[in-house]
Amino acid sequence: MPVTLLGFSWDASSSYSRGPAHGPSVIRSLIGSDASSPYALNGTDVRDAITAEDFAPLPADPAEARTAIEVRTQKALDAGAPLSLGGDHSVTYPILRAMRDKHGPLNILHIDAHTDLYDEFEGDRYSHASPFARAIEDECVNTLVQIGLRSVGPDERAFGERHGVIMLDADQLDAVPFEKLSAPLYVSIDLDGLDPAYAPGVSHPEPGGLSTRDVLSLLKRLPAAPVGADIVEYNPERDIGLMTAHVAARLAKELTAAMA
Ligand code: MN
Ligand code: MN
Repeated sequence: MPVTLLGFSWDASSSYSRGPAHGPSVIRSLIGSDASSPYALNGTDVRDAITAEDFAPLPADPAEARTAIEVRTQKALDAGAPLSLGGDHSVTYPILRAMRDKHGPLNILHIDAHTDLYDEFEGDRYSHASPFARAIEDECVNTLVQIGLRSVGPDERAFGERHGVIMLDADQLDAVPFEKLSAPLYVSIDLDGLDPAYAPGVSHPEPGGLSTRDVLSLLKRLPAAPVGADIVEYNPERDIGLMTAHVAARLAKELTAAMA
């Protein structure tokens, strides 16, 4: 499927620090950089696979921004599969609404240190701590498999168990139920799911996470071609050199190849 690369410069729904709004353009610059390979591990040339791009700015009002994200994702879905670069993780909820309208409830592989299942955070039901709670309520989700978790509170645990969410720690790679990740498959990668040793450029670093190789191995084993994916929470202000951006660009290339 042709891939549309979307950039959602949004960090007003973050609870702690700003910065992820600048993420998409930095990651984009590395995907297209002559200094790095244009090829995914399976040999796909991502320059051919990405057929369109949309990095338009978002409205400042959160509700208007969510609508814009949903509409732009719908447009990308008309052309094929959307690969979205964040931005904080709140962008995933409007993306998933558009995905649901096109493909029905999704099977989702969600890589993150956090469940993002808060009912609300600091009074905001659309915070970057809540996208999967909203997506479940809106029937965007068939199966949700979360891996890399290392900060699960009792309320999120209870919500997840009530809704059949499969919640796995970073050391439970062998427990990922790949058979449940069938079509229509969506992949959401919060970069803080990786260990800060690999991806320090995030707002909420949590030691004890996945390695870059762990994530690449997970993507290699996907039983279906994703119909959409996102990479979120890159915070250039926290990065060391561009090391996290390079990880994000590599993951973007692998997701592009998997969707193409
Ligand atoms: Mn997240
Ligand atoms: Mn997170």
